[in-house]
Amino acid sequence: MATGHFKQGIAGGRLSPEQYADNFSDLHPPLDHHEALVESDRCYFCYDAPCMNACPTSIDIPLFIRQISTGNPIGSAKTIFDQNILGGMCARVCPTETLCEEVCVREVAEGKPVQIGRLQRYATDVAMAENKQFYRRAAPTGKTIAVVGAGPAGLAAAHRLARHGHEVTILEARPKAGGLNEYGIAAYKSIDNFAQAEVDYVTSIGGIDIQNGKALGRDYQLSDLTRNYDAVFLGMGLGGVNALRADGEDAQGVTNAVEFIAELRQASDLASLPVGRRVVVIGGGMTAIDAAVQSKLLGAEEVTICYRRGQEHMNASEFEQDLAAANGVIIRHWLQPKRVIAEGGKVSGIELEYTAMQGDKLVGTGERLTLTADQVFKAIGQSFVPAALNGSGALLALEAGRIKVDAEGRTSLPNVWAGGDCIYGGDDLTVSAVAQGRDAAESIQRALTSNGRA
Ligand SMILES: Cc1cc2nc3c(=O)[nH]c(=O)nc-3n(C[C@H](O)[C@H](O)[C@H](O)COP(=O)(O)OP(=O)(O)OC[C@H]3O[C@@H](n4cnc5c(N)ncnc54)[C@H](O)[C@@H]3O)c2cc1C
Ligand code: SF4
Repeated sequence: MATGHFKQGIAGGRLSPEQYADNFSDLHPPLDHHEALVESDRCYFCYDAPCMNACPTSIDIPLFIRQISTGNPIGSAKTIFDQNILGGMCARVCPTETLCEEVCVREVAEGKPVQIGRLQRYATDVAMAENKQFYRRAAPTGKTIAVVGAGPAGLAAAHRLARHGHEVTILEARPKAGGLNEYGIAAYKSIDNFAQAEVDYVTSIGGIDIQNGKALGRDYQLSDLTRNYDAVFLGMGLGGVNALRADGEDAQGVTNAVEFIAELRQASDLASLPVGRRVVVIGGGMTAIDAAVQSKLLGAEEVTICYRRGQEHMNASEFEQDLAAANGVIIRHWLQPKRVIAEGGKVSGIELEYTAMQGDKLVGTGERLTLTADQVFKAIGQSFVPAALNGSGALLALEAGRIKVDAEGRTSLPNVWAGGDCIYGGDDLTVSAVAQGRDAAESIQRALTSNGRA
């Protein structure tokens, strides 16, 4: 998001409970009623608004902002939820600076966009606080649908299918629903257990049964689902992480950044979470920034992100990079890991090689640098783990290692759809997973109502 406060004065070493509470407080504090009215007044309510096209869920942004400005936050929330039932979480986590707010006419003219994300949060918070439900289920269709994964894609699909009167069973491997909203998003973007509150809000429509601890490929096979349900939606996200391909990366203290964040998100006492004094994070995306900033907020003394290309190539937005810098994280570019240095099996440093572009190719220059580190986080991308699909009988087509789907989310198997991070061609954002889940549900609805079985 384009606005927000940065935590200041983070010192090394472990912190007091008050400091932890402050460090992990809301990154973008909510707008109060008056602030929301003032901010909504800044919108020009453009005809053919560019922000709507930039939102992957195509929320009618000028309409929801107008509804706020006329004192109708509940109507505004309905406008948002009509397109995006996880509009509350998206308001907190969307990188708005590269989505809706980037193209806001006021951003282009004045460099200060309307704060669309914060207004969206204001409206959805009002509706959710009142547990205002906008949707009734259609008459029961008698059709049953299995959704694998209770992340944003699975939840959005399930809600839309339940609205159409189908019976949905979500089979989720982990003990809690929410996917990366629960286990991955940085703690300061989603405070007060909001992920679980949103799952409760979404499922209160009825007709959605979430079964936890049920992993595809372990507890059942895809062929079981296609046999027992009228349609299947796969929203399994990405289960693997890319290797550093550096010697010695299995040393103790070299950790997958996503696992570290999951542990942090589930910790009841942040002081008990181990964090290094000198932390090195390898990567250039949102996960790298989140792991680095949260390490610093946990009390690490020195945190350095090493990225193999230049600043302009980083996947993390400028806002995210600024957030890291404001929290005292050092970002170093044009460095790739070569060797993890360990003492007694435990990481004590990392040797990196400088890189440069040679034509279109990234090459190592041969020049090396060693950084002292007692913790190294791998944040160089996640990958889809197709193993869970084994035993499906028919092989599901993949493209570049992820599930291949058409424009409606249909896979190569006739009654199986997929969406979210596990499909090829997405952009690995919460809001895109919601859009894909929703659109696949509409496709399933069309298939079920036109042919009987999908
Ligand atoms: C650290 C981190 C920070 C991020 N921060 C942001 C952010 O700030 N803003 C943003 O827009 N995006 C962010 N993202 C990306 C965003 O979280 C994802 O794009 C989004 O969660 C994808 O939703 P999904 O439903 O496809 O997958 P997921 O959220 O990964 O959910 C998939 C679900 O499927 C379950 N599952 C997996 N395998 C199986 C199986 N075999 N059987 C049953 N269930 C299974 C998983 O347990 C999980 O609950 C972040 C990602 C990471 C890793
Ligand atoms: S869902 Fe995200 S991209 Fe869409 S309008 Fe809301 S904040 Fe912007």
